[in-house]
Amino acid sequence: MKIHWKILLFMAAGALLGGVFQAFLDAPAWIGVTVEDTETGVRIKSLDSRSPAAKADVAGSAKLKPGEQIAAIIRNRGKPGQEEAIPVRTAGDLDDVLSRSQVGDLIWIEVAGKDRPVSVNIAMQPGCQRDRWLEPFRFVADIFLALLKMLIVPVVLTSIITGVSGVGSGRDFGRLGGKTFGYYVSTSFLAIFTGLILVNVIRPGTGAELGLTPSDKFEQVAEQGIFDVFRRMVPENVFSAFSANGQMLQVIFFALLFGFFITRAPEPHRTRMREFFQSAFEVMMKMAVFILSLIPYGVLALLVKVVGETGFGMFRALAVYVVTVALGLIVHSCVVLPLLLRFVGGISPWQWFKAMGPALMTAFSTSSSSMTLPVSMEAVEKRGKVSNKTTSFVLPLGATINMDGTALYECVGVIFLAQFYATVGDFQLTVGNQVFVVVMALMASIGAAGIPSAGLVMMLTILTGLGLPVEGAALLLAVDRPLDMMRTMVNVWSDSCGAAIIARTEGEGQVAGIPAPG
Ligand code: ASP
Repeated sequence: MKIHWKILLFMAAGALLGGVFQAFLDAPAWIGVTVEDTETGVRIKSLDSRSPAAKADVAGSAKLKPGEQIAAIIRNRGKPGQEEAIPVRTAGDLDDVLSRSQVGDLIWIEVAGKDRPVSVNIAMQPGCQRDRWLEPFRFVADIFLALLKMLIVPVVLTSIITGVSGVGSGRDFGRLGGKTFGYYVSTSFLAIFTGLILVNVIRPGTGAELGLTPSDKFEQVAEQGIFDVFRRMVPENVFSAFSANGQMLQVIFFALLFGFFITRAPEPHRTRMREFFQSAFEVMMKMAVFILSLIPYGVLALLVKVVGETGFGMFRALAVYVVTVALGLIVHSCVVLPLLLRFVGGISPWQWFKAMGPALMTAFSTSSSSMTLPVSMEAVEKRGKVSNKTTSFVLPLGATINMDGTALYECVGVIFLAQFYATVGDFQLTVGNQVFVVVMALMASIGAAGIPSAGLVMMLTILTGLGLPVEGAALLLAVDRPLDMMRTMVNVWSDSCGAAIIARTEGEGQVAGIPAPG
């Protein structure tokens, strides 16, 4: 069976099983707070250390502490017309709110003497019937996520070094290299901005019911301005950069430089290093393909866990997110790139699209730029009539480095989750944070290998860099495959447009069978 059908099937099975758990297994709502009635009001007697309410907030102190007084509970905060504030005068009032709530709901607790209410996700009573049944699925989901994270650093490092050091096999980067990189970076930025605009207009994450625990501790890393983002890109110590998934920018920065300087090293070192990293990359690819083949099981476990804990509400939010990404991909591939083809390259977008048919279809069905590479090279050279020199320079590097679709997707995905955390938690989606996301989305798309779901794995690094929990990305895995098929198609389309435009600017005559103007 084709892997995407298998993923879809396992996803449906997971959702179904989660729904059954949700419907038939008992799970009392729980916040882990014991209270007592005092003369002045309801006082917190003790807090269970497993409770979301006992975790630290932004300032690093526990959200709720024993001895504090609960004044009111706010439900449906941020939903105009539905918001209700329930005064808590006796312990019974609190029980009453809990009995009317569902696991996964979010409530805000107003504490006497605090100027801001604290958000607490309602959990299920630890050890309850449903909790016990969900345990094995949580276990599988956690292991699966760890495996994905394990891949990040070695894959990014080896794929970038191999890509950059392999360019032209020792030939200088020169003019063609400059143009190619210029094209990669500018189209990726255009894609990211398209995504940024759409996600800020549609706001799929604001008030979304994702059932994720609001983050307990946001490190407001990107509070600083744009210069800090770039300053943080340069590692002081590469090994400490390798050891933290949130420092991916630094790893990529180092890998780009390292790959470039391999081409500058004398023989035999140049060849030796290139071959070494090429081999390491091949091994990592085999490993990644194996781990990614486990996606159906990971998705099953994740869906049982999420639906079993919080129900089906999240699917509505995810649908809006999918539409936002798809819309962005359509705008970029059907408007932005064709305009470049037409006005920079002087090439008819429609004719070029027809010539690229086989490559685009392969990209769509494999979700892998790397697997599509032989087909796209053939299409660009034979059907598109671009010279072998330009094709073999622009496409192989583009397959790992130039990923417009992935870049757009990273931006929308991360901001979607950030919007969610900004409504439910104390996270602030500042301009500085958005700038950080833009830069990181570009880097993540450069760092992503041309294999299925690589973009999702890279998203974990942006989330970590922002100080957001990575559980959000696990949720996006549920709908990743269709988006992956679409974004891979856009990645390949952009590579091919790049080859055509660069061929034209290099004075090649017969691109797509259309003679050069003049
Ligand atoms: N699957 C994509 C590609 O190969 C990468 C990604 O996951 O975004 O181009």
